[in-house]
Amino acid sequence: MSESLYELPERYRTLQNEARDFALSVTAFSDEADESDRIHPEMRRMLAESGLVRVMVPAAFGGRYDVVNSLAVTVVREQLAGESGHLDSLFAMQGIGSYAIAVSGSPDVKNLWLTAVGELKAIAALALTEPHVGSDLKAISTVVEQNGDELILNGHKSFITNAGDADFYCVLAKEENDYSLIFVPADTVGVSTTSPHQIIAPHVLGDVMFKDVHVPSSNRLGTRGQGFKIVLATLATFRVSVAGAALGVGTAALTEAVKHAAAREQFGVPLARLGSVPAALASSWIDLEMARSLTYRAAAAAARDPLANLDLSSMAKVGATEVTGRVVDRAVQVMGRFGLVRGSKIERLYREARPMRIYEGATEVIYDSLAKRLVKEVVK
Ligand SMILES: Cc1cc2nc3c(=O)[nH]c(=O)nc-3n(C[C@H](O)[C@H](O)[C@H](O)COP(=O)(O)OP(=O)(O)OC[C@H]3O[C@@H](n4cnc5c(N)ncnc54)[C@H](O)[C@@H]3O)c2cc1C
Repeated sequence: MSESLYELPERYRTLQNEARDFALSVTAFSDEADESDRIHPEMRRMLAESGLVRVMVPAAFGGRYDVVNSLAVTVVREQLAGESGHLDSLFAMQGIGSYAIAVSGSPDVKNLWLTAVGELKAIAALALTEPHVGSDLKAISTVVEQNGDELILNGHKSFITNAGDADFYCVLAKEENDYSLIFVPADTVGVSTTSPHQIIAPHVLGDVMFKDVHVPSSNRLGTRGQGFKIVLATLATFRVSVAGAALGVGTAALTEAVKHAAAREQFGVPLARLGSVPAALASSWIDLEMARSLTYRAAAAAARDPLANLDLSSMAKVGATEVTGRVVDRAVQVMGRFGLVRGSKIERLYREARPMRIYEGATEVIYDSLAKRLVKEVVK
């Protein structure tokens, strides 16, 4: 069901097969990892050994591609997310959390950290969100100031993936009237973490506090005032990969529903032949294939030029995550009470689909920016 209707170029099909085989090799402990709010050590060890994380760093630092390739990231996430949300997040954040270093880090920071990221010896994190600030990032209150050769950081970041387990944070902060991105090793004096929240689909997530944290000024990623430019470059490369992960979740949910509907009989026939069940299954398949076509097209475009194709990536992210929201809901309905059983695969997929419509650009925020661009295009 997953790739029969869309032909990927050969080298991506090879990568897809590699990612699928790897995802299937960790199923013995994927349930345990998916319930954990800390990084699962065995899953980390096996993912490191697989070499797949090398997709997330440039070739100069042991990576598989000269620069991080959005289509490769998307194809891998689709395969991992169908088996384990924990695995997908562990893979994805190594790229999302380190991309700023790859494009704007000092030679020292790059040399010290990027190879370790690709080998999963260092865990990456990107810290933008604050307790009172989510979509409206310009309202952040974390501040950084220069003092001689040092930067001093103060603030509180919230809902940060990998908080507590990360080896470094790339932190968005206000520098007077500018916004800068600062690289902060997790063991720097003044950095602390807490875990005040856990979400419906357990996630390695926490708050990170910075109290008079001193780092060398060479830890500023890019130059002063380039914070948003670098965050945008990160989104442009990785946003489309959320669509890939959503397709993995949606496809796995549809597979569960189809198996159930083919095996269970009511009124003397399989559920798959009853009432609106065929329509629920077939329309889910169509929705997923439409979303997959847009996702692979957007990811291929982003691989060529991420920033020039951000609108397409945003469309794919909204399209695929919203489709998957509908598909998991229909799958639960088709499975009746068995779709509601705690600890079942469909329950995990149902829970995991939900956050995807909120993080890395909530659907409504993306609608707003796309609509603005549309009006500008049409009414010149
Ligand atoms: C699992 C998970 C992992 C995360 N990991 C990280 C991480 O690693 N690093 C990090 O920095 N953050 C992370 N976040 C935070 C995430 O980026 C924010 O949740 C996201 O930016 C949305 O912010 P918010 O939740 O505060 O929602 P809000 O900004 O409060 O928005 C709430 C709702 O209001 C609506 N809305 C808001 N603004 C607009 C607008 N302009 N137009 C129309 N509607 C609007 C939307 O419906 C939106 O869903 C994570 C979140 C989750 C759930």
